[in-house]
Amino acid sequence: MTDPGHALGQPYAQVAVDTALTVSGIRFADEGATGEDSEDEGWLQRTFHYGIPAELRGQVRPGQLVWVPFGARQLQGIVVALDDTSPVAETRDILALLDPEPALSAEQLALANWMSTRYLTPLSAALLAMIPPALQQRATMRYEALPGGDLAALKPTARALYDLLIEHGALTAAELARVAPVKTWRPHLRTLVADGYVRETTVLTEPRIRPHKEELVRLLATDRATWPSGRSPRQLAVLELLARCLEGGSGWVRVADIRQQTGASSATVRALADKGLVAIRQETVWRDPLAGMRFVPIASPTLTPDQELVWQTIAADLEQPQGHPFLLQGVTGSGKTELYLRAVERVLAQGRGAIVLVPEIALTPQIIRRFGARFPEVLAVMHGALSPGERYDQWRRIRSGELRVVVGARSAILAPVQHLGVVVVDEEHEWTYKQDQQTPHYHAREAAIERARLAGASVILGSATPDLGSYYRAQRGELCYLALPRRVIGHRGVIDQMLAENGVTHSRYTPVAAETLYADLPEVQLVDLRAELRVGNSAMFSRALDQALGETLAAGEQAILFVNRRGMASAVVCRDCGYVSQCPRCRLAMAYHARPPRLLCHHCGWREPVPEICPACGSRRIRYLSAGTERVESEVLRTHPEARTLRWDSDTATTAQSHEQFLSRFMQGEVNVLVGTQMVAKGFDLPLVTLVGVVLADTALHLPDLYSGERTFQLLTQVAGRAGRSVLPGKVIIQTYQPEHPAVQAAARYDYEGFAQAELAFRREHRYPPYTQLVRLEYADGDAERAHSETERLARMLNERIALLGMYGVDVIGPTPPYFARARGRWRWQLLVRGLDPLRLLRDLRLPLGWRIDVDPVSLL
Ligand code: ADP
Ligand code: ZN
Ligand code: ZN
Repeated sequence: MTDPGHALGQPYAQVAVDTALTVSGIRFADEGATGEDSEDEGWLQRTFHYGIPAELRGQVRPGQLVWVPFGARQLQGIVVALDDTSPVAETRDILALLDPEPALSAEQLALANWMSTRYLTPLSAALLAMIPPALQQRATMRYEALPGGDLAALKPTARALYDLLIEHGALTAAELARVAPVKTWRPHLRTLVADGYVRETTVLTEPRIRPHKEELVRLLATDRATWPSGRSPRQLAVLELLARCLEGGSGWVRVADIRQQTGASSATVRALADKGLVAIRQETVWRDPLAGMRFVPIASPTLTPDQELVWQTIAADLEQPQGHPFLLQGVTGSGKTELYLRAVERVLAQGRGAIVLVPEIALTPQIIRRFGARFPEVLAVMHGALSPGERYDQWRRIRSGELRVVVGARSAILAPVQHLGVVVVDEEHEWTYKQDQQTPHYHAREAAIERARLAGASVILGSATPDLGSYYRAQRGELCYLALPRRVIGHRGVIDQMLAENGVTHSRYTPVAAETLYADLPEVQLVDLRAELRVGNSAMFSRALDQALGETLAAGEQAILFVNRRGMASAVVCRDCGYVSQCPRCRLAMAYHARPPRLLCHHCGWREPVPEICPACGSRRIRYLSAGTERVESEVLRTHPEARTLRWDSDTATTAQSHEQFLSRFMQGEVNVLVGTQMVAKGFDLPLVTLVGVVLADTALHLPDLYSGERTFQLLTQVAGRAGRSVLPGKVIIQTYQPEHPAVQAAARYDYEGFAQAELAFRREHRYPPYTQLVRLEYADGDAERAHSETERLARMLNERIALLGMYGVDVIGPTPPYFARARGRWRWQLLVRGLDPLRLLRDLRLPLGWRIDVDPVSLL
């Protein structure tokens, strides 16, 4: 029903078009005025005005996918608004609607707008990220040679292309790519088109992903007397089968199953349908990523008093028309997830939906099981490992309101959930929530807060070690702070059952009274590796870790050994006194570079020779550090041959299934020592893990990154939190050359408060976030010299602009080469813009190709 005032609809639509879209394999970098450019400023948010032709009046709505002419081409665009007027006199018309149903809601459109403004990322990229690739129908170009041109004027390559088109007839870009004589055919082709030798037309390709349909059959002729007599045993077999299926169930059977069970062909089934004996219907079947999972339903437990207190606050907020953002700081195992489940349960009861963000797919199996057990009917998952078909189907079922709880990685915040009631961001400090390598750039935590604000929903940011920025915001009252200071004793029944099954009293089990609710956090022991060396132990494992590992295995329990992959072999450390080479200007660790050998500060560019003698103690044993999962695994097997090890890192766990398999092998006790990287640091809640060993804490500490202290603290706390999650006592051993480092000390004491205060003081003094905002501008170029000079050019330009605008609170740091100065054959240089509102300086700055803007970088490497 159209609003009578707008019976004819507005005459213009503002359409976001991906002008950098790869059409026909040719990447057209923004082509400017080929469309109907309606705005000069805010190029990132640029939209184009199109006329709505009479036959589409009243049907065009914001959020719809449309086809529009763009230059000589046709592109898919997204209607972002309707308009009564157009800023340009001559507009072209929308060609067609892809789907009358809007692909995006008003809330999603608003979120995309926010992303674009907040992260200086193209609006079209933000909008596209909200649509499954299956819906993104592509246009491709077809090329056809035109007769009558002056062929003698053509250069050889152009002539060869022209002849190919004469020979083969019209070719699409993809076809041309296969037969083209040279790799660099594209510019030649464009010249041919421009000079009128070749005609370019748009053809639309069908989407490769479609709804998946299946044929179902049901018996109509229940009276056997009407069945065909004798002659067709296949037909009879089918009818018998269908008759059996009619008892009990709905009677609908998949044709595929009939074929399999009776050997009858589809033709047999159709013949029965023609005789009116059976009915056939088509049904959409969902490609379901959760299809293989069996959820054992569980009721929610009674909350502990700590949880109850927090819950009262959250529950009250869920009744408000406009919810608030909460920071829930709870030690590992304090029952945060249980509260997330409560909140989701409550909003479902209100008829609303929920989004639960989890940082990485490594931890989704367990989280998905917990949510699946509570909400099996309405759970959707979204992560990078879904197939395009699964993604498409999940998206459609979420949009239709059938699935109302979405658990997923960062992009799940873009999901089309209706009537959003709560957003949960688990492990909110995780830097993987930032999408900075591809467009659209955004931080899922910030997007969650904005999405919730738009929807009136509450948002819960949960962590044992909140991001310092979040903590700071909570102190200022921008987030409502909630705490769960004590660990809940989990898996009580599980352990009792295990002990009963084994029929033995567990050697390390001290019975815990039933009314005891809380457990201590596992004891943390810091091992000074320098001292180990002094007593002649230069092995990878200290005596303490070696012994603890032996005891754990003997007791039938499990251990996790953690290896930090990031920053391996980067810092130069004295193995006698723990001295680390630091930049004299920035007080950040400098990185070792082999060719030429030198130390480099990736923050300010300071460089110096690699010391041969420790400047602090004179020792010659100063070198860079390393330890990989493979070496750790073989060391475990060498020292404890009875161990059954599993290596879990990005080399061994390459698919979502492998995470699931690894988890179940470990949970079933097939494996008792897990050696892993960051992937094993998070989320696991495993009753038999009683020992966690951090093989070398230092590697993360000495990354030449502003955030390395915070990361180390978070990581050590998270890893430590994997131990002692049941009634069995847990123990954590952290090996380090620098036991006195504040981040290590604080982690060993579980002293978040102390760590946060010291780190915040440092940040304030040096004008770093959260006291200022940083924007990283990174330039990459195949030519080393050009990379440097372009970065210098921009730095000069920015400094002039700062002076011109009088933005004295803003400064530009650099150019500096980042830590990974060379990536994929390209040289990288970076600038940091720092200030209270650096975006003001950068907002309508149009950067040439090759630049990447990273607002609020989570790492400066
Ligand atoms: P977190 O998310 O803070 O790490 P979880 O919610 O995973 O904590 O809780 C830790 C363990 O305690 C889990 O095994 C969970 O099932 C259990 N648990 C949490 N709350 C309760 C409760 N109220 N009663 C009993 N067990 C609980
Ligand atoms: Zn030394
Ligand atoms: Zn420096």
